[in-house]
Amino acid sequence: MLPDTHHKMKRIIRYSLLITGLSVACSAGSQNPEYHNSGHMKYNDLTPQEEKVLLHKATDRPFTGDYYLKNDKGIYICRRCNAPLYRSEDKFEAHCGWPSFDDEIPGAVKRVPDADGMRTEILCANCGGHLGHVFTGEGFTGKNTRHCVNTSSIRFIPADSVQYAPAPITAK
Ligand SMILES: [Zn+2]
Repeated sequence: MLPDTHHKMKRIIRYSLLITGLSVACSAGSQNPEYHNSGHMKYNDLTPQEEKVLLHKATDRPFTGDYYLKNDKGIYICRRCNAPLYRSEDKFEAHCGWPSFDDEIPGAVKRVPDADGMRTEILCANCGGHLGHVFTGEGFTGKNTRHCVNTSSIRFIPADSVQYAPAPITAK
């Protein structure tokens, strides 16, 4: 083999290696998995007290918080997931120190037997957050029902701002 031909061969090999390398790099780039939004949404951040109540079933001290005396027109949404839970029309003064409602927004509240074996616990049907307890047969209102709800579990949305209320969060 002539020295000149040998040199050309080496050059061809070097170029083809370079081209192969480039095409591998390009295809590797195009094969990167695209980032898809999985639709996963995060619940609202909670204060330590809200977390204690909503996630660990603690109870707000009675006669505390902004809502037990509140009379304004509007709705009450879940503080964790924004699901609408109660209407001000169903709120009444039970003099117990917690916000009280004699009805819920249909389908919004789940009832389960409390771990104490006596009471009925109420949960947000959307996120499972602890709301409080429901009692019947006390005769406060015609509906004979009292949802005794922790202020830490709910957030009031005034009637004129309901259209701007945050959308319910459905976490996976
Ligand atoms: Zn919720």
